[in-house]
Parts: sequence; structure tokens; C-alpha cells
Amino acid sequence: MDETTASDKLAYTADDYDSDAHVPAAEALRRLREGNRIYVEALDHERDLSPERIQDLFENGQRPFACVITCADSRVVPEHIFMTGLGELFVIRVAGNVVGPLELASAVYACEHLHTRLLLVLGHTHCGAIKAALDGEAGPVAAITERIAAVLGDVHDPYEASVVNANAAVAALRASDALARLEKEDGLAISAAVYHTHCGVVDFLGE
Ligand SMILES: [Zn+2]
Repeated sequence: MDETTASDKLAYTADDYDSDAHVPAAEALRRLREGNRIYVEALDHERDLSPERIQDLFENGQRPFACVITCADSRVVPEHIFMTGLGELFVIRVAGNVVGPLELASAVYACEHLHTRLLLVLGHTHCGAIKAALDGEAGPVAAITERIAAVLGDVHDPYEASVVNANAAVAALRASDALARLEKEDGLAISAAVYHTHCGVVDFLGE
């Protein structure tokens, strides 16, 4: 075994960090709320992106305090919206923030293996995928818009559609035995939120 292989194995071990030192869901939610307040008020833009932080995460592994599933839209960037640095959010992005098998598997990895205790689906206003679904357009993203159209049913209001679509993703996550068990027995919170694309505010739903 040469040195490169040995070091790759070490990196994998660090990525695979596993301990019970996780952040409780309520504290994770408080951090996201506070981060979004700082973002909206533009109080500061300092986050730890330092070489020291990169090295620390490499050596000691990641311990993201929340898992965020959101749209691929370039205006919706969770690390900015919640003012977080490296290693703080486990982010899953896909157009329309829909949850299929791949997104679900990623979420289970974060919650079960990395012990992330807040799983947030972050929808957003002016979402192109939702608009296409509302307009009945299939186009190149039919695999996504058809899924969204199916959950929207009779909903036509764009904001309500964002809410309904995010809640549908939450339901899809809860349909997982692994996540349902963690939510019931082990402190996991699964919730939805909507990002206002025009002003940067996040509405945390269901509270
Ligand atoms: Zn979108």
C-alpha cells in the first residue's frame, strides 16, 4: 500500500465520522433562524472558510448540525442564507427540492450516520420547477415537474404551491422507516420552510 492510498483511507475515515455528539434539533433550528436574521439584515458576512477549518474538518470529519434539502436554483444557497461555514450544513440540492430515492438516501446518511438532528426541506418562491408544474409544462425537466404537479393537485397560488411542495417532500422523508424511527425515538425533527427569493427571509413552517 503506497502513501496516497493510506492517506485516502484516512480521509475516508474522517468523512465517516460517527459519534453521538450531535446538536439537538431545537438548537439547530435556533442557529438557522439566527443565521437567516443576520443574512437578511446584512449584519456581517463572516464565516469560517479558513485553511485551518479545512484542515480540522479533514482530520476530524464533518459534524453538520442540520441537513437541508433545497432547490438547485442559484439564488437559493443554504450556506449563505443561514450564514454557515464549512462543515455546518449537509446540503442536498435538486430542482424543485423533490425527494426521490437518491435524495432520501442522502438524507438518511446525514441523519443516521452523521447524527444530524434537524432535517429541513427549504422550498422557495419564484421556483422555475414549480412554475412549470403550475403551467402544465413538461419540457426538459418533466421527471421533476410531473412529480410536483402530482402533489399540487388543485393548488394554483405560487406561494401555496411552494408550501405544499415542501410539505410533500417532508411526507416523502417521513415515509422512510429509518427517518420515521429517528424522528419518533431519537430526537430527529423533520420540517419545511420557504425562502422568499425577493428579500431573503425564510418562513419556518408549521410552528
Ligand atoms: Zn426552485
